[in-house]
Amino acid sequence: GADVDAGTNVVTGADMATGTNTATGESTTHSPDFAKIRLDFPVLAREVNGRPLVYLDSAASSQMPAQVAERIDHYHRYEHANVHRGIHTLSQEATDAFEQTRDRVQHFLGAANRSEIIFTSGTTDSINLVAHSYGGSTLRPGDEILLTQMEHHANIVPWQMIAERTGAKILVADVDEHGNLDLDDLRTKLSNRTKIVALVHVSNALGTVNPVQTIIRMAREQGAIVLLDGAQSAPHQPVNVQELDCDFYAFSAHKVCGPTGFGILYGKKELLEAMPPYRGGGEMISRVSFEGTTYEEPPFRFEAGTPPIAAAIGLGAAIEYLQSIGMEQIALRERELLEEATKKLAAVDGLRIIGNPAERSAVLPFVMDGIHASDIGTLLDKQGIAVRTGHHCAQPIHDRYGLDATARASFAFYNSSEDIDRLVEGLEFVKTFF
Ligand code: PMP
Repeated sequence: GADVDAGTNVVTGADMATGTNTATGESTTHSPDFAKIRLDFPVLAREVNGRPLVYLDSAASSQMPAQVAERIDHYHRYEHANVHRGIHTLSQEATDAFEQTRDRVQHFLGAANRSEIIFTSGTTDSINLVAHSYGGSTLRPGDEILLTQMEHHANIVPWQMIAERTGAKILVADVDEHGNLDLDDLRTKLSNRTKIVALVHVSNALGTVNPVQTIIRMAREQGAIVLLDGAQSAPHQPVNVQELDCDFYAFSAHKVCGPTGFGILYGKKELLEAMPPYRGGGEMISRVSFEGTTYEEPPFRFEAGTPPIAAAIGLGAAIEYLQSIGMEQIALRERELLEEATKKLAAVDGLRIIGNPAERSAVLPFVMDGIHASDIGTLLDKQGIAVRTGHHCAQPIHDRYGLDATARASFAFYNSSEDIDRLVEGLEFVKTFF
C-alpha cells in the first residue's frame, strides 16, 4: 500500500494478492484475488433479515471498503481543519490531503491539468454547473441541445431548466429495441444548430455502454461540445478524457467506493476559463469590494464556500483503492460476473431481461411474468438480497419500452458467483408466491 497522508497506510486485498506496483498505482498482470478483496468490505459480512447480505445495487451506490472508511475517520479524529485559508499546520495538512485528491482524480481520468478537476457535490451538481454556467452563458434562442432517450433525470432536467431560460431547444436521440443508441437518428438530429450534446457514457437503467468516441467525433464535426455523464462508467472501466476528447465528464464519489455528497466535474481548461461562476461566496473570488468583485481562476472559481473536506479525502482514498486493483482488472471481473448472471437469469422461467445492447456494463434490468417489480424487490429483500426496483430515475427510457418499472441487479467487482446463485434461488422463491 502507498501512504495516503499523515501515515495512514492503505493496504488492500488486491495489494496482497497481486503485488501491486504502488509507484504507479496500477496493478500487475496477475489476476487479483477477488475473494480476498471482498473481505475489505465489512458490510458484505453482515446479515439482512437473517440471511447473509447479497448486495446487487452498486449502480445506485457502491459499498465502501474499510480502507476508505478508516481514512475518513482518521481525518476527522486527527487532521480536521478548514482548507486553503489557514496559516497553521493543521490547516496546511488538511489542504494538502484535500488537494491531493485533485491530483489523484486528474490521474484517474487522464486529464491534462489539475485545474480541470472541479470538486462538486456529485454528478447531478456537476451537470447543473455545466448547464447553468456554460449553457446559461452561451446558449441563444434557436440553439439546440441534443440528449438521448436513455438519460438519467440528472442529465435531462438541468437542460430543460436552461432551455427554458435561454430559448434553446432540446432534441432527443432515439434508442432501439435492443437498448442501443440509434446512431442514424442521432446523426439526423445533429446540425450546426447543435451547441451541446449531453449523454450518458454507460446507462444506469440498461447498462448500455455507448460508443461515445464515435458520437464525440460526430458532434465535433458540427461544432458542438460534449458532456459525458460518467456516473456509471467511472466505477467500472478505465476512462481517459483526453483519449475520449470529451469537453466535460461528470461522476459521483459514492459510486466509486467513496462517500456521498461529493463528486467531480472534469472540464477542458479553455472552456472552464471562459465560464462564469455558478455559485458565489468565499474561496471563489480574487478580490471583493462593493464596487465590483473579480473571480478566481478554475477550479476555485467553481468551488464557493467550505468544501466537504472529509469526502474529498475519502474519494482520494477510494481512487487509490480502485487503482491498487486496477480498472482493467475490475472491468474484466465484472464482465465475468455479467456473463454468468445473464446466463443464469435467462434460464429462470418467466423472467425477461430488458435490452440486449452491443456492449453492456454489469447492470441487468429484468421483469417477470405476472409479478410487479416492487414485489420482486420486497420478496428478495426478505431473503437478504438487495436489488433496485422502479424507474431508476430514467422514466423516458421506461416509457420507450412501455414499462413502468423493472427490477435491476447491478454488480461490482466485490460480488461473487454465490451472489448470483442466491439471486436465482431468491427469484425461484419469489415465484412461489404467485
Ligand atoms: N447519472 C447516472 C447515469 C446515474 O446513474 C446517476 C445516479 N443514479 C446520476 C446521474 C446522478 O448521480 P448523483 O445522484 O450521485 O448526483
